[in-house]
Amino acid sequence: MFKIIETDSKNKGRTGVLSVNNRKVETPFLMPCATKGSVKCITPADLKEIGTKAWISNSLVLSLNPGVEVIKKAGGLHTFTGYDGVIFTDSGGFQADRESFYLKSENKGIVFKNPWHGKNFLYTPKDAMQVQMNLGSDVAMALDDMPKVKAGKKDVEKSLERTHRWAQECINFHSRKKQLLFGICQGALYADLRRASAEYINGLDFDGVAIGGLALGEGHAAMVKAMKQSIKFLDDTKIRYLMGVGNPSDIVEAVAAGVDCFDSAFHTQNARHGTLFTTQGKIKIKNAAYKNDSKAIDKNCKCYVCKNFSRAFISYQMRMNEPTGFRLSSYHNLAFMQDLMGKIQSAIQKGSFETLRKEIKQKYQVNDKS
Ligand SMILES: [Zn+2]
Repeated sequence: MFKIIETDSKNKGRTGVLSVNNRKVETPFLMPCATKGSVKCITPADLKEIGTKAWISNSLVLSLNPGVEVIKKAGGLHTFTGYDGVIFTDSGGFQADRESFYLKSENKGIVFKNPWHGKNFLYTPKDAMQVQMNLGSDVAMALDDMPKVKAGKKDVEKSLERTHRWAQECINFHSRKKQLLFGICQGALYADLRRASAEYINGLDFDGVAIGGLALGEGHAAMVKAMKQSIKFLDDTKIRYLMGVGNPSDIVEAVAAGVDCFDSAFHTQNARHGTLFTTQGKIKIKNAAYKNDSKAIDKNCKCYVCKNFSRAFISYQMRMNEPTGFRLSSYHNLAFMQDLMGKIQSAIQKGSFETLRKEIKQKYQVNDKS
């Protein structure tokens, strides 16, 4: 299921392959978010061209609209969405961070409101498993009770109790057929709780372990610290997934600590706001400096957009709010990140990851508020 190919001699970075349902993805990898079954402005054919082999959808959101029955009737999430890559589904635990969905956590599950119909409902670990099995994703995530990243210790302890109980309930209910099941450890920014949660979740029979509840405004240094406090208590043999992290500087630090996969909407969100990633750092394509710039977004990028369009054209499309501008910008940012993950993989294999790590940290300096 998960095979480690190479480990870095200077840090804990490793490359590997995740195989599930005859689909394969090389690690470390980054998944774009296809919350509602599509990556915004991007088609599955684009992803194939870019080389992106996995995405993450949100099972709770899809179960509310269009509903599990519609997707099941289509033959499952892969046929419904037209995407044949590895599909992860998030359980709904992350929606605790979304005011439009979340009402409260109870011992039995999470009380959500349906943003489309306004009805409140209790969502239990059993519901989260049933929905994900019916959707037919390749990797299901356990339901967790995600605390606010800066919540008080008592609240985090209470939510951890739930997260741990629900993790066991998810294992008990899940069929373990044609779908992997990953657990999620939490603990906010408390070292002892990060450790307790990582040890507990690691001890359960999950196929992989995710580190959750980070990249929610705590800043780079605090995120890296909490991630390290969790990861040292996770088995080397299991695949490790850092949820919600997508900034290049965050990614290289996490890879160095031994993280194998990531998901983030950061790159497509940035693209739609006109922030493009290049090998020289970020550029704001709508700025006057690019109005008459006939160069490609990034001369070192071999993507379809950089081969065929100028900064001037993309800048114009973006300033006019043309959907083509959003599409081309999103395409390039995803291609840039895919290329970066490929560079990380080959640097680990060649023993040059430390050089790449320094270069990325210098080009993508973090604006740290923590
Ligand atoms: Zn490009």
